[in-house]
Amino acid sequence: MTSYSLGSLLYEGKAKRVFVTDQADLVAVEYKDDATAFNALKKAQLAGKGELNCQISARLFELLEREGIATHYLALQEPNWMLVRPVQIVPVEVVVRNIAFGSLCKQMPIEPGAPLEPPLLDLYYKDDAFGDPLLTDARLERLGLLTPAQRQELERLAMAVNACLRQFFAGIALQLVDFKIELGFTADGDLVVADEISPDTCRLWDLQVSDASDRILDKDRFRQDLGGVVEAYGEVLKRVQGACPSPRLGK
Ligand code: C5P
Repeated sequence: MTSYSLGSLLYEGKAKRVFVTDQADLVAVEYKDDATAFNALKKAQLAGKGELNCQISARLFELLEREGIATHYLALQEPNWMLVRPVQIVPVEVVVRNIAFGSLCKQMPIEPGAPLEPPLLDLYYKDDAFGDPLLTDARLERLGLLTPAQRQELERLAMAVNACLRQFFAGIALQLVDFKIELGFTADGDLVVADEISPDTCRLWDLQVSDASDRILDKDRFRQDLGGVVEAYGEVLKRVQGACPSPRLGK
């Protein structure tokens, strides 16, 4: 990896800060310890969360790359920093659900825990001011965010990510209930998986635990005040690390 110097803050989100560098093709992402839920109505600082999510994300991005799924990830830098390719984020949150839970069961008469086969793919408009509303085909078309071909590619990528992650997590005794990904366009116009993939963005249940609360190893521990959030994320990293020990390092 070429050496670089950190430049100005490009964007600050709820869980990450993105910085430009003196290299046009390198952007640095800092994972923060800030935890937020319910559109930032609930907030806390969880020491160590940023590092855990960065370490987990780096390994999952590398896993996807090995399966031929393009991502923005380039290399892990510091424990809570990674280098990524600059992308234009598509303001659409793509959620894939294998098991019914969360907002789906609040909005639809579907029992929590019901398997969803084939997996359900939902698109949401990424805008906190509007509360990230569910998108319909007509609304997506109206907003002109994606061409039909780009939308097809986005859905294909999301389903490929699900197939890859679901199998990987099952191998480390974790059930991938659902997850959210964000995608972006590179300077060459390629659509790649961006943002992060971590227990902040995935629901993960411990397959070795039967108790419905104790098995939760993701952000629902924070949302539902179950405690042990950082410990749960640490357990996820321990298992991910067991399968993917050494991520790429950059400088
Ligand atoms: O809230 P809902 O149940 O629809 O969330 C589905 C999945 O997407 C969960 O894994 C959740 O953590 C993730 N998600 C996210 N960011 C959002 C909304 C949902 O990471 N803004």
